Amino acid sequence: MSLLLGCIADDFTGATDLANNLVRAGMRVVQTIGVPTQALPTDCNAVVVALKSRTISPHEAVQQSLQALAWLQAQQVEQVYFKYCSTFDSWYSGDVRGNIGPVTEALMDALNCTFTIATPAFPDNQRTVFKGHLFVGDVLLSDSGMKNHPLTPMNDANLVQVLQAQCQRKVGLIDYRTVALGATAVTARMAELQTQGVSIAVVDALSNDDLLRMGPALKPLRLLTAGSGVAIGLPANWGIAPSAASAQLPPAVGLKAIVSGSCSLATQGQVAHFLQQHPTQAWQLDPLGWDTHASVESVAAPVLQWAAKHLPVGPVLVYSTADAQQVQAVQSQLGQQAAGERMEQVLAHIAQGLVAMGVGQLVVAGGETSGACVQALQVSQMHIGAQIDPGVPWCHAHSPSAAASGLHLSLKSGNFGTPDFFSKAFQSLQGPVL
Ligand code: ADP
Repeated sequence: MSLLLGCIADDFTGATDLANNLVRAGMRVVQTIGVPTQALPTDCNAVVVALKSRTISPHEAVQQSLQALAWLQAQQVEQVYFKYCSTFDSWYSGDVRGNIGPVTEALMDALNCTFTIATPAFPDNQRTVFKGHLFVGDVLLSDSGMKNHPLTPMNDANLVQVLQAQCQRKVGLIDYRTVALGATAVTARMAELQTQGVSIAVVDALSNDDLLRMGPALKPLRLLTAGSGVAIGLPANWGIAPSAASAQLPPAVGLKAIVSGSCSLATQGQVAHFLQQHPTQAWQLDPLGWDTHASVESVAAPVLQWAAKHLPVGPVLVYSTADAQQVQAVQSQLGQQAAGERMEQVLAHIAQGLVAMGVGQLVVAGGETSGACVQALQVSQMHIGAQIDPGVPWCHAHSPSAAASGLHLSLKSGNFGTPDFFSKAFQSLQGPVL
């Protein structure tokens, strides 16, 4: 199988979300953690290189993205896809806002590419673009929770304006009326914009139909920049159609566990649901009860001893998930950054211990928590399997660590998944759910 599409994602769970959309549209996808140092499996036609570049300076983000691009070019991919967040946010510091523009232009330069698109639309997740303005649900981006984001606040919903402020090249718009007319009209509009000196076009999309309609017009572009939504219209350009085979993973083996460090509302509901169903199979981590000088190993030891007894009974849940008030109490005692980092280290160590005990099916809840666990388990690549809930697939890990190689992993970003996600996840491993 030859590699058709090479993707660079600016964060980890975003990479999985993109890979998931490609698999659902029929591609066989491998996600790598950073720029790979090992060869890819030969049975994939798309690769997503997961970086952690969303919240770093434009200079650093450009360097990392170019490194990923060089690797993708060496693999001779036909098209390159730069994936960012569907809320179009990135590094922010005083007057200099965003690294999406600088990374896009650096990739265009390196690929000798004269025209590309920019559309974060992801209608399945309530992100739509209308007349160049990004909506989150029913409100403009600038009226959504993103206006108060602690790291990357967004207070302008006009994407042409936002991107123009980050770019040397001219930014234009392909609006919903053109998209509604189909791919031929989109292609004509691209040509028209280029005669006006525009090199990057924000493209409206209100629905998946819009994304599918614009798909054929994107075929000749060497570089695409987008959220994960645009991916649904691409595989058809190579004659690829949805099929259960693209999501096939080796059969799952081993014990079952969930590690949750996410405090998002959806995860709180999922933990409550699990506690209701299996009250004796869960262990709550309480950072307020920890000796501040205790080592990660000594905090994790009793949890792992408990898990050894309970794993043979059924899935176990180890969680630090807590509501906003409890988190506030922990943060005021330990400090916000320190509390988060310590919890991530403890959870990652527990995940490592669980896998060493024979856990072969592991669900991790939380974006940062997932990053810490994947690092501790030395996961380098993952084949992407069937979706459990929108944006969350099962993955099959490759790792130089014997214990973690062959592990089935599901990395759930905080707000994804229905309340019964944990039990649904293990049930769905018994057969593909597309
Ligand atoms: P999400 O995807 O829901 O945002 P993350 O894992 O990305 O989840 O972030 C949750 C952060 O909160 C992590 O840094 C984690 O270590 C931290 N955390 C988890 N539990 C607690 C807790 N009880 N008190 C304080 N911080 C916590």
